[in-house]
Amino acid sequence: MTFPIAEPWYHTESLDRRLWRITEPHVHPIFSANIHLVLGSEADLVIDSGMGIAPLRPLVDRLRDDRGKPLICLSTHTHVDHIGAAHEFDIRYVHPLERQELAKPQPYSLNSADIPPSLISIFIEAGYEPLWPWLIDALPYAGYDPARYVLRGSAATKTIEEGDLIDLGDWQAQVLHLPGHSPGQIGLFHAPSGTLFGADAIYDGPLIYSGPGMNLSDYASTLRRLRDLPVHVVHGGHDQAFGKVRLDVIVAQYLALWQMG
Ligand SMILES: [Zn+2]
Ligand SMILES: [Zn+2]
Repeated sequence: MTFPIAEPWYHTESLDRRLWRITEPHVHPIFSANIHLVLGSEADLVIDSGMGIAPLRPLVDRLRDDRGKPLICLSTHTHVDHIGAAHEFDIRYVHPLERQELAKPQPYSLNSADIPPSLISIFIEAGYEPLWPWLIDALPYAGYDPARYVLRGSAATKTIEEGDLIDLGDWQAQVLHLPGHSPGQIGLFHAPSGTLFGADAIYDGPLIYSGPGMNLSDYASTLRRLRDLPVHVVHGGHDQAFGKVRLDVIVAQYLALWQMG
């Protein structure tokens, strides 16, 4: 295989004065998740950490105004595309139901031939393009060997659940338990601005609802709950941000598809 080198590996986008969106454009869309960085007066927060193909911490540190503050890495759930670089952070939050998987995740490969066909058909049926031979189409640096990719585990330093508060000083968000796509998935809701971090419960792309560990009736309850929140903007686990009108369309579309409206 010959791949071009993509430097920098991550794409960085400023969403507002305290919020950054970081993505991995050279990862197949199925596994290209959003990493959000929220800067607070007393602490900073990284929501999810990508595939762990290239070091994430140096980029995050460059975006922070004050590196003396605590830096929290919150994993919304423990699918490979959300926890890859969690081990680079000293403070790690996850829901109790996903604690074990964060500490010792299932091994993962970047070679598509290693992904079970049953899983691939779930992705295709959901609406994603077919997999590439490898899950990446470029290398993060010369000499990187995708065959040697390892998904590293890291123990949570704290578990968080429904009703907990993530307190960054001048920015506080409520933890929402959003099961369905995974048992212990969490989202965050910042009430003053109506900002929802919806993880893989809701984003503006094909939702994945029928794989291992997924539960359709839980997922439907989660979507109904999100529809009833006073949301202004949604930052999902994948794809671009969107507003309340689009949120309602997505929820209606999936509840109808599942005949759970
Ligand atoms: Zn995801
Ligand atoms: Zn996921």
